[in-house]
Amino acid sequence: MDFELTDEQELVRSTVREFAEAELAPVAGEIDRDHRFPEEVLPKMAGMNLMGMPYPEEYGGAGTDYVSYMIALEEVSRGCATTGVIMTAHTTLATFPIYKFGSQAQKDKYLSDMASGRRLGAFALTEPAAGTDAAAGTCTAIRKDNSYVLNGSKIFISNAPFAEIYIVFAKTDPDAQGTRGMSAFIVERDTPGFSVGEAEHKLGIRGSSTPPLYFTNCQVPADALLGQEGQGFKIAMQTLDGGRIGIGAQALGIAQAALDAAVAYAKERVQFGKPIASLQAIQWMIADMATSIDAARLLVYRAASNIDHGFPYSTEGAMAKLFASETATRVADRAIQIHGGYGYTESYPVERHYRDAKITELYEGTSEVQRMVIARAALR
Ligand SMILES: Cc1cc2nc3c(=O)[nH]c(=O)nc-3n(C[C@H](O)[C@H](O)[C@H](O)COP(=O)(O)OP(=O)(O)OC[C@H]3O[C@@H](n4cnc5c(N)ncnc54)[C@H](O)[C@@H]3O)c2cc1C
Repeated sequence: MDFELTDEQELVRSTVREFAEAELAPVAGEIDRDHRFPEEVLPKMAGMNLMGMPYPEEYGGAGTDYVSYMIALEEVSRGCATTGVIMTAHTTLATFPIYKFGSQAQKDKYLSDMASGRRLGAFALTEPAAGTDAAAGTCTAIRKDNSYVLNGSKIFISNAPFAEIYIVFAKTDPDAQGTRGMSAFIVERDTPGFSVGEAEHKLGIRGSSTPPLYFTNCQVPADALLGQEGQGFKIAMQTLDGGRIGIGAQALGIAQAALDAAVAYAKERVQFGKPIASLQAIQWMIADMATSIDAARLLVYRAASNIDHGFPYSTEGAMAKLFASETATRVADRAIQIHGGYGYTESYPVERHYRDAKITELYEGTSEVQRMVIARAALR
């Protein structure tokens, strides 16, 4: 990897890698097996300033650039993909909207607690009948005197059972057409009328809890509105533009973990009297895996670097996520192939990497959505 990293970025990589290898990788299998949210690692990550990396120090963040944040996310996900999604759902999806669109009072109230990792956040856009077509959501927020009353439900909300602060999207003008009429709200966990349902049983990232949310005449103060009325869709899309690069970094970490496992196994597994690493069939698989991971890494860092330099990053982020996520799935598949039958069992971590990789092609916009974004830019 020859992308020019600064000394600080290299330090982020070595520090987070050390932490991930010591604290995350050893428990990743158990977290997956038991579907257990790794609550105990979050204070440690907060202590290392990993829960709000790109936000200013005055708001409790680490004040790093976006490339550093992506490096950290890649290393955390290499150790444990579940922890990776908890980190990015909190840092990007929940905290960014408050940082970017929040009033000074909202920033004073929430940002320091979130960026420092004291209070966990979640982002609630998806509804049972509104996934890719997010504007089709039917959750409503109707103004009543000095408050809004929320009704409806959300589904697949990462971090939800352990979060305290939720960014919730709801229609303030249910009759408006298309993407208009949606607004964003900051909802606190103990608000009456708000509840968290049962977590889904998932193929992968099993430690990250993904339940539905319910709003039944849930009354929030008028100043819970984030940005302006009707700005919700824009807030959601801008948040996801950055979030996608994070999912690219998560995919990268999963792919790297699968390659590492495959290389180690190929060197130790002996067939026909010699390690399988000496077979050209295995070497070619490893060469392809390493090449696509490097290409994915360059795309992820390029997109992050665009954020750091104030350049557009929507198309670049879509490319990074698309390529990194499909790389992760492919690399994890090849890693199982290199492990033979053992790779299909829980004796080795590659079956978990394979299951974890798949989600990166689905959330924060499916691969089809990324291709739509990229094609739109290419055809412009
Ligand atoms: C583990 C997990 C965690 C998640 N975390 C969150 C979270 O924290 N917050 C949140 O709000 N959401 C979250 N989601 C929801 C996630 O973002 C959606 O599942 C995703 O956006 C896809 O929506 P959908 O599942 O409704 O699929 P659908 O939109 O129903 O799509 C089904 C298929 O149709 C394709 N498709 C749909 N529309 C088009 C089109 N116009 N052109 C081409 N193909 C199309 C899709 O690509 C896909 O292949 C999470 C989901 C999962 C599984």
